[in-house]
Parts: sequence; C-alpha cells; structure tokens
Amino acid sequence: MTGVVLVTGGSGYIAGFTIRQLIEQGWTVRATIRNLNREAEVRDWLKVDNDRLSFFAADLTSDAGWAEAMAGCSHVVHMASPVPMHAVKDENEVIVPARDGALRALRFARDAGVTRLVMTSSVAASFYGRAAGKEVFTEADWTDVAASGVSAYAKSKTIAERAARDWIAAEGGSLEFVTVNPGLVLGPLLGTDFSPSLEVVKRVLEGAYPALPDLGLNLVDVRDVADLHVRALSAPDISGERFMAVAPHGFLRLIEIAAILRERLPDHAGKVPTRRMPNWVMRIVALFDPAVRQLIGELGKVRHAEPTHAMDKLGWRPRPAADSVVDTAESLIAMGVSKV
Ligand code: NAP
Repeated sequence: MTGVVLVTGGSGYIAGFTIRQLIEQGWTVRATIRNLNREAEVRDWLKVDNDRLSFFAADLTSDAGWAEAMAGCSHVVHMASPVPMHAVKDENEVIVPARDGALRALRFARDAGVTRLVMTSSVAASFYGRAAGKEVFTEADWTDVAASGVSAYAKSKTIAERAARDWIAAEGGSLEFVTVNPGLVLGPLLGTDFSPSLEVVKRVLEGAYPALPDLGLNLVDVRDVADLHVRALSAPDISGERFMAVAPHGFLRLIEIAAILRERLPDHAGKVPTRRMPNWVMRIVALFDPAVRQLIGELGKVRHAEPTHAMDKLGWRPRPAADSVVDTAESLIAMGVSKV
C-alpha cells in the first residue's frame, strides 16, 4: 500500500532514512522543515527522486503552515521533536514543543482526513522512574515523569505520547494512531552534521575518555527504524499499538561497544579505551560536571527491551546491534568526521 505521506521534521536523521525508504517503495512524500531555506541542503543529502518529494514550512510551536502541509495527505509520520544535545535549564523548552507539536500534528491530520498517523516516540517513554531492580521493559511500561532523576527528554517523550493517546481517545474520530518507540539510534551518517545519538560510538572510537563508564544502552539501526515506520504506516489492525524499536539482545554496555570496535575494526581502534571507569571516579567527576551528574543514576543499570512485538506483528527483522556499531564507526571514518 502507498499514498501521500507527510513526514514532520524532514531535516532529521531518522526522517532522512524514512523518506528514502518511503520514496523507494512508491510513496509520495511531503516533509516539513522549520525553514524552507534548508530545502536545498536537505534534498542534497537525501539524494532521492525529487519529483516525489516536496517541502513545507511548519514549526511544532505554531499553527502556521500545518493545514497546507496536510492537505491531500493519506498518512502522517510525526517525527519532529526536540532532541537536546545538552542538559536544558528549563525542561519546558523540550516538553512543551514535544507535547503541543504532537497535538498540533494530530489535530491537523484529523481535520485533513488523514487515515493513520505514526508517531516516533522512544524507549525513554517506558524506561524511567520505575522501581529499582526492574530491568526488562515492554510496550506495557510507562516512564513515571513524577519520579526524581527523569530527564527533560524522557519526560518530553512520555508526556507527548500520553497526550497524543488521550487526544486520540477523546477527539481522534476515525484517525488511526500508532507509535514506534526506538532505542538509541545508530547507523550510517546522512551528512557531516550528524545526529547526537551517534556521539556514543564517536566518543568510544576516538578515545574521548581514558576509561569507559559503566553505562549501557538499547541500540537499534536507523535503517531498521525507518523500515518499522514504513511497516507501521500500512499494516492492518494495529491502531493504538506501540512498537519497541530495538535490536534483538541490543542492550550493550560501553565496554562491549569498545570490544566490538577493537575486534571488527582493528586498524581504526588504536584509541578505543580498554578499561572501565570505576563508579567512584564518575561520582567525583560529577561534582564538577553537570553532564556527568545526569548519568550517575544510570551507572550499572540494565534497561532492556526486545523487539518481539514488532517482529511478530509486523514481520520486522532488525539487524544485530554489533553491525550497527561497526557501520556507524565506518561511516564516521569514511565521512572524515573521526580521524582514527
Ligand atoms: P534529529 O535529527 O535531531 O531530528 C529531530 C527533528 O525534529 C529535526 O528535523 C528538527 O528540526 C525537528 N524539530 C525539533 N524541534 C522542532 C520544532 N520546534 N519545530 C519543528 N521541528 C522541530 O533527531 P532524530 O534522532 O532523527 O529524532 C527524530 C525523532 O526520533 C524524535 O522524535 C526523537 O525523539 C525520536 N527518537 C530518536 C532517537 C535517537 O536515538 N536518535 C531515539 C528514540 C527516539 P531542525 O533540523 O530544524 O532542528
């Protein structure tokens, strides 16, 4: 099945791969960007059939442009959301655009007669603020935004997804709603202005730290996340569902990411750290560094999800996380971003 699909946040990393796959599969794609001045740059890195891609200006924080972008669309992929590079001073800088932008996308989609909206949420809407010791998370879990230590980003994704689901129940009419909830997204770069999520591999590869903190992440490949969005647009009988977008057994600690790089890219792994940083050292560094302070609660924690639901229901087959780690590093090297 194909149609006319609007992808919000068309300048984003995951959006780029999703737009490519949609066009390859015969969809006509519209993409929103905040400022049409960026259209040529985005087209340049997407390298797709330009005749089936058009751009519209729309911001999460304003109604301007949304009706024009949605007019005539059969489907929407709502991906735009703030992805902060650093800790923010006021969490509402992230939460308000994420929540209000999701509600705006839904309202304009319903009014335009869109049949299904797929929203990019996150595992961050499930993984945080729960009892100590809980390690396995599924689509049934929700982050408790009232718990201490939950980041502004995790709050923004949880609040936006919950608000969207409440709105659909109350006012959605016949509009179908599905979420894709990715882990940390890795994979090839689209351009040298790359997603913050690739920083993890970049820093390990470049030996940014003398030793690696005891932190782990659920990884997934950008090409598989794009594929899951495309499947979620057209699969029958999935209205209201959530799909964890993570690689199978894809929870890897930094020290495991380092070992993969050493084993599979030995000629480029000279700077990859071999040692784990003791947690007490991290706690001392955290006294002076607010970015490290944010991570202290995560030391030694396991937060693990599996892609079972998307595999069973949508036939999704995500690649192993180790392959994505290697592809990310190879792309960082090939693009001249990491000189190792
Ligand atoms: P990204 O490259 O930073 O893309 C974010 C997109 O949102 C950009 O196109 C950005 O536009 C747009 N955006 C941000 N604030 C906006 C606003 N006020 N109005 C309009 N557009 C706005 O990050 P990404 O990784 O591709 O993220 C895409 C989606 O996936 C997000 O919803 C993110 O939460 C979710 N996600 C990402 C990961 C990950 O590891 N990367 C994991 C789980 C979920 P500009 O280019 O103009 O800033």
